[in-house]
Amino acid sequence: MESAKEIWKTALGKLQIQVSRANYTTWLSSSQGLSYQDNVFIVGVTNVFIAEWLSRRLCPLVRKTLVDIMGQDADVQFVVGNGEQLSASPLASQTDGGTSSIAKRHRFNPKYTFDNFVVSDSNRLAYAATVEVAEHPANSYNPLFIHSSTGQGKTHLLHAIGHLTTKNGLQAAYTTAEQFASEFVLAARENQIDTFRSKFRSIRIFLFDDVHFLIDKKQTLQCFFHVFNDLYNNNCQIVITGDCAPKDMQPLSSKLRSRLEGGLVTDIQPPDFETRLNILRAKAETAMTPDMEGVLHIVAEKVCENVRQLEGALVYITAQVRLSGTKVTPQTINKLLTSATHQQDIKLLLRAVADHFNLSAEELVGKKRDRMTSLARHVAIYLMREGHNCPLTEIGRALGGRNHATILHGYERIASELSVNPDLSSQVAEIKQKISLQKSSRQAYQTV
Ligand code: ADP
Ligand code: MG
Repeated sequence: MESAKEIWKTALGKLQIQVSRANYTTWLSSSQGLSYQDNVFIVGVTNVFIAEWLSRRLCPLVRKTLVDIMGQDADVQFVVGNGEQLSASPLASQTDGGTSSIAKRHRFNPKYTFDNFVVSDSNRLAYAATVEVAEHPANSYNPLFIHSSTGQGKTHLLHAIGHLTTKNGLQAAYTTAEQFASEFVLAARENQIDTFRSKFRSIRIFLFDDVHFLIDKKQTLQCFFHVFNDLYNNNCQIVITGDCAPKDMQPLSSKLRSRLEGGLVTDIQPPDFETRLNILRAKAETAMTPDMEGVLHIVAEKVCENVRQLEGALVYITAQVRLSGTKVTPQTINKLLTSATHQQDIKLLLRAVADHFNLSAEELVGKKRDRMTSLARHVAIYLMREGHNCPLTEIGRALGGRNHATILHGYERIASELSVNPDLSSQVAEIKQKISLQKSSRQAYQTV
């Protein structure tokens, strides 16, 4: 059997397409498989907060994913550590009274270094600016703001700064906006906002990932504004990432926007074909044998959306080939990539339905059974069956492991109601239109 590390890598690949991007980045991306013994699979994470969140929110999904991969039963435990200094005590006793884990030592992803970053015209300025702030913090660009669409290397660069400054004896604090928001809510609930804010005072380098997550969170934004000012006045180097430039984040107050724009704002563009090929070559060195150049060409041609998908496609192909013993030919690669696209389509569909009904993707596939959630779930079932001809078992699996009868019931409910309920039928039409718009923009992007 493969090692826990390898199994967890495959599990992460599968989990990545089942949870939202923000959740994946915040809670799962820096985790690792530590061991599998006596039917207990142990996953190491970087802090207590993440361990608690995963135990509370994602345990069933993680467990199911692991069982699917290993073909045997497994309980899952999330612990803080990387296996060297594993903390075996129960999570509850590791909490520190609701104060922030952000300011504590962060374990940066070992793969996200400057050395592993492929530099091209599309990211040259962002790369140079991050190297500069890592080498000379709070000296030139402060704050540094990097924006791009998803999967273009923003988080990678933040971690790379973290590695380099740590090597130079300066510990950087990293947080995703989502983690900041969750900790802020906890602190507010316990009337500990001042304590929460004070945790940031001694930070010398502050890496803040995905600020756009805060856009509709007024109070959290206000707290972030204060933290930002405290840090800035303390001469702390601040690096922030987001999915667009501050000037396009209209809901932000003009005061905060101008603070974010006060240093250097730079973007990362999607990679062109040549860059995609170079990235694949760099990644394949460890993942694939050298005679795979042809394969890499096909992947670079077909997968254009972002580097995360490029990497995902490579990991997916390698895993499928290894697990099934399939020979790698252009035909098998095409087939594998088509099935990966199908999974992306299903994910897009679930997200569109969840958004339409104001639910999270997790709620849509989870246990909630109120009227609105059930309706949303049934609409998702209907669309998966109508639009993608998905078998009932696949729909059941995509919706958190529901059985055949439940799926059929959901489908029949919507199919029969559509003819008599014009409101439902216009809602379904609206969702379909959104899905097809998103798909066509993705395809336009892919065929450039
Ligand atoms: P973002 O934060 O912009 O959504 P990430 O930093 O998470 O993107 O990048 C997604 C994946 O792609 C990561 O595994 C990262 O290592 C990889 N990646 C992105 N850009 C590059 C690059 N230029 N060179 C090497 N790897 C890259
Ligand atoms: Mg990111």
